[in-house]
Amino acid sequence: MKYCRFELNGESHYGLVEAVAGVEQITRLLLKPPEDADGDIEDLPSKRMDQIGLADATLLAPVRPSKIICVGRNYREHAEELGNEVPVQPLIFFKPPSSLLAPGGEIRRPKLSQRVDFEGELAVVISKTIYQVRADEDVRPYILGYTCLNDVTARDLQNKDGQWTRAKGFDTFCPVGPLVTDEINPWTGVGVETRVNGEVRQQGNTRDFIFSLGVIIRYISQAMTIAPGDVIATGTPKGVGPVVAGDVIEISVEGVGTLRNPVVDE
Ligand code: MG
Repeated sequence: MKYCRFELNGESHYGLVEAVAGVEQITRLLLKPPEDADGDIEDLPSKRMDQIGLADATLLAPVRPSKIICVGRNYREHAEELGNEVPVQPLIFFKPPSSLLAPGGEIRRPKLSQRVDFEGELAVVISKTIYQVRADEDVRPYILGYTCLNDVTARDLQNKDGQWTRAKGFDTFCPVGPLVTDEINPWTGVGVETRVNGEVRQQGNTRDFIFSLGVIIRYISQAMTIAPGDVIATGTPKGVGPVVAGDVIEISVEGVGTLRNPVVDE
């Protein structure tokens, strides 16, 4: 099952995405948000619509989370490239929902920063309320699906501030999409690739996570309630680097698709 969120006649809708003759099309309107489905989106009421090619739709960020929880340094080689120790427990931080950006939306480089980096990541969308998951409990029933996320970071402010709220939290610093799918399995490994102006800059695989999704979700849930629709970004592979106005960043997660965003100056 794949779904997106898109604009039609000035209103936002969720749409079911299906391959028709090998091309992804929005084929049905979902009449409730997927996070209301309690994990089974096929059971949601929907209605037929005139098909729109996913590539032709005005896409919105496919998530409306109460919070975006991110894991830092979850790939060994990325921790090392920034001169950091490999963490012994998950390192978590937030991005505010106000930083969300639609596929195709412009990432604005703030005047306050001299260095803005891309970070291509796999993101998890949560389906059911989670709090203090037991050590032996499978987290998979709590996952609605997966998408691409760009954890855009003002690297100079991250280093200067000592904590990451401002550096990670600017408006437009959290592009997500283009769709959410439950048809991939990060436990067995999916590729995460970032390209800038077509040139490959990051190539990772979720099988190289330092902390598995189970460890991450259990760890977060010991501290806080994770709500349906919340997003967890799982960390970026090595190869992060700065962008300038005019660059186009593409993040592809195998089996999800490509999240593409141009960069502009504020
Ligand atoms: Mg990150």
